[in-house]
Amino acid sequence: MKKHVVFIAAALFALSAVSALAATDALVGACIYKFDDSFMTGVRNAMRAEMDRQGGELEIVDSQNRQPTQNDQVDAYISKGANALIVNPVDRTAAQPLMEKAKAENLPIVFINREPYADVMAAYDKIWYVGAKAEESGTQSGQIIVDYFKAHPEADRNHDGKIQYIMIRGEQGHQDAVLRTEYSIQAMKDGGFELVELGSDTANWDKVQATDKMKGFISAVGIDNIEAVLANNDDMALGAIEALKAEGYNLGDPAKYIPVVGVDATAPALEAMGKGEMLGTVLNDADNQGFAAVRIAVVAADGNPVTEESIGYEITDGKYIWIPYRPVTAENYREFMR
Ligand code: BGC
Ligand code: CA
Repeated sequence: MKKHVVFIAAALFALSAVSALAATDALVGACIYKFDDSFMTGVRNAMRAEMDRQGGELEIVDSQNRQPTQNDQVDAYISKGANALIVNPVDRTAAQPLMEKAKAENLPIVFINREPYADVMAAYDKIWYVGAKAEESGTQSGQIIVDYFKAHPEADRNHDGKIQYIMIRGEQGHQDAVLRTEYSIQAMKDGGFELVELGSDTANWDKVQATDKMKGFISAVGIDNIEAVLANNDDMALGAIEALKAEGYNLGDPAKYIPVVGVDATAPALEAMGKGEMLGTVLNDADNQGFAAVRIAVVAADGNPVTEESIGYEITDGKYIWIPYRPVTAENYREFMR
C-alpha cells in the first residue's frame, strides 16, 4: 500500500516536471513600461489570469515610462531571487543592459510588446520575445479603408480618385508605430488608390494628445477636405474621433462621417464601432500575448525546455512568439466584445 502511494507520488512528480500546466512555485518579476496604457493593461490582466492558472507568483511593477526606473526594478527582482523576468521595455533600444543583467544570473528573460534589436536577442540563449508582427496590423488597417472606399464611392468627397488622409502615429521609434504607418499606406496604394497625406504626427499612443493633434489638423486643412483618419492604436483613433465629434462629425449623420481606423480592439473602440463612430480596428491580441509570456517564464523558471508543446504557442527561430492580428469590422466586432 505504502509502496503504491510512493509510486504514484513519483509518477505525479515526473509528470509535473514535463507539464507546463502543473503547479509551479516560480516567482516571476514583470515590469510594464507604464500602467497608464490601455493595451498594456489588457496584457497585464492576461498575465495575472495565466499565473492564477499556473499557481506561481507574479509581481508586476509600473516602470512609469522611465528606463532608469525600470533598470532598478530589474535589479530589485534579481536581488529578491526572482526565477524569471518579463520586461516590457520603456525604450526598446535599451534592452541590452537588461538582457545582460539576466544573462549574468542565468535568469530567463521574456521581452514583450517592444522588440529588442536582433543582436540583443542573439546574445543570450534564455531570451524570448512575445509580440505581434506590426506589418500585419498596418496592412489590415489600410485594407479596411480600401474596402470602405470601394464600397462607398461617396467617401471620395472631392471626387478626385485619391484618398486625402490624416495619419496619427504612436511613439517615435516603436516598431509598431513605424511599421503600422508604413504598411497601412502601402495597403491603400496596393488597393489602387492614390494618396494625399494632409497631415501626420505622433500622439504617443495617447488619446488626449490625439484629440489635440486632430484639432490642429482640422483647423489647418479644413474638416471638409479630410476623407480618412488612420491611427496607430485605438486610444489615438478615439482621440481623433473626439475632435471630429466636436465638429458635428461621426455622430450619425451620413453626410458628416469620416472613416477612422485604429489598432488594438480595446473595449471602448469596439463600443465606438457599435455606435457607428469608428469604422474599424485590428485585434492586437492582449490575452494571448500575456498568456504566452507567463507560460514561457514559468516553463523556463522551472528549468524545463521552452518548446511549442510546453508553452502551447508556435515558436519562430527558437525565440519569437508572434501572436496574429485580425481585422475587426462592422461584420465581426461583436465577437471581440466581452
Ligand atoms: C499598442 C498600443 C500601446 C503600445 C505600447 C502597441 O502594440 O497597439 O496601444 O500603447 O503597444 O507599447
Ligand atoms: Ca479624394
